[in-house]
Amino acid sequence: MPKYIFVTGGVVSSLGKGIASASIAKILEAKGLKVAIQKLDPYLNVDPGMMDPYQHGEIYVTDDGAETDLDLGHYERYTHSTYGRENSLTSGQVYHKVIMKERRGDYLGGTVQVVPHITDTIKDGIRDVSKGKRHDVVITEIGGTVGDIESLPFLEAIRQFRHEVGRENSLFIHLTLVPFIKAAGELKTKPTQHSVGTLREIGIQPDILLCRTEKKIGQSIKAKIALFCNVDIESVIEARDVSSIYEVPLAFKEQGIDKVICQKLRIEYKAGSLHTWKKDVVDIALRPRFSVKVAVVGKYTELQDAYKSIYESLRHGGIASDSQVIIKRINSEKLKTARSLHVLKGVAGILVPGGFGVKEIEGKLLAIQFAREKKIPFLGICLGMQCAVVEFARNVLNMKGANSTEFNKKTPFPVISLLEEQEKTKIPGDAMRRGAYPCEIKKDTKAWKAYKTEQISERHRHRYEFNNTYREKFQKAGVKFSGVSPNGKLVEMIEIEDHPWFLACQFHPEFKSKPDRAHPLFREFIASALEYQKANFPKSALEPVATRPDSEEKIIIHE
Ligand code: GLN
Repeated sequence: MPKYIFVTGGVVSSLGKGIASASIAKILEAKGLKVAIQKLDPYLNVDPGMMDPYQHGEIYVTDDGAETDLDLGHYERYTHSTYGRENSLTSGQVYHKVIMKERRGDYLGGTVQVVPHITDTIKDGIRDVSKGKRHDVVITEIGGTVGDIESLPFLEAIRQFRHEVGRENSLFIHLTLVPFIKAAGELKTKPTQHSVGTLREIGIQPDILLCRTEKKIGQSIKAKIALFCNVDIESVIEARDVSSIYEVPLAFKEQGIDKVICQKLRIEYKAGSLHTWKKDVVDIALRPRFSVKVAVVGKYTELQDAYKSIYESLRHGGIASDSQVIIKRINSEKLKTARSLHVLKGVAGILVPGGFGVKEIEGKLLAIQFAREKKIPFLGICLGMQCAVVEFARNVLNMKGANSTEFNKKTPFPVISLLEEQEKTKIPGDAMRRGAYPCEIKKDTKAWKAYKTEQISERHRHRYEFNNTYREKFQKAGVKFSGVSPNGKLVEMIEIEDHPWFLACQFHPEFKSKPDRAHPLFREFIASALEYQKANFPKSALEPVATRPDSEEKIIIHE
């Protein structure tokens, strides 16, 4: 049986439970332990697939095609594991299961209740993570904030879980906030005391406290928290703001969190080292040699979380090029005229991400045309590839009104369309290609230079495809279909020959990039952007803002 660690959060949301859980997994993995992480989300949607990115942020797709919370992205980026459907459980799924059983008559006429039916189903979900697999540790992160009505069944379930598996096999970690009150010049422990108090009311006594703070928490404050929250002083871990999120595992380990975990869970202590993580990721992120500025032209640019994996992958590309990536976020809906393109001046790379709305299209087309004509490195992802195809059709192949049938069913040139078999499905969502698919790479292409292998597997989430009727026309005009499905029918990657680096893919490479192993496409995109930066803006290429590796410029253009 694996050891179980439960991570809860208190005081306020957005304290970084996902990053904290992923960091703990990273530290344990470095000791040679096999770790799995799981997210429990209290909302009633079955999954976030249909949720508005404005409310939910990015929808993270796993190999098995599950549409999950963006925290799974953190889990995969920090560890070596890949996760799937069983690593993400929502109240919606739990209630759905219970209600289906009730309709089938499985409860034999009994009254169906939150306790025990919902809580038992949650406990099954926690056990399912390691079914048929041999994990040493399972980390379960509970979404929401302690005190929310919605998360109560989850908290009751983990309380019971600990009772069933025993203290030496389970651990409660609570992430709280220790705010600094400027006027008093003091750090305040009361919110933490209250949050732990609320947890205790429901029968959970945390074993370890992670205290998110702006300032250093001294020994006396640690002692106070330990005394009033009933934990050992060495179990009060400071989680101070850091300049790069990849520093968090180092900061936790430095304070001996792994010793406390091993001791409490009776795991034999092995030191484990994060030396390569420090050398290959953190040191470069904090002190890069170069600086490169790229634009992300998308719909949800004002939101930090909507393109989370893309922003992270760009930074991974930066780490691989020893450079800081400055991301200029540009709202495509506001790019309307050639004049508004002045915001793209000074950028050394342009990335157009995925999306679903017709409103975002025209601005993206303008940005792509700019990248193509001015020979600025370009990476198009999913809708970004579909837009690159439409742009090429309209402006190079003179196909006036070319479009994707997603946006104009009557377009004279449906260069992006549904496959015939997809047309027949009536239920929206059914025709969606989700999860990992194989792709074959043609030699002598930029894609080949990046991947250096013939067969790859990448994750998808889309309905529309390149319309094969037009392949020859595109080819003749200098477009290479550098990646196609093994049966040759689906176009997965295109590139333009007469351009330093113009590549677009139908899949989402951002779901497979890691800080210590940048995804090949992001690595090459940033490498060519850096070349462009050095050639065109040599001074700024050598001016990294060393302590702000994640610096971003958000530009929303107003007409
Ligand atoms: N809307 C497009 C499609 O469904 C692209 C989707 C995406 O970018 N994820 O095919």
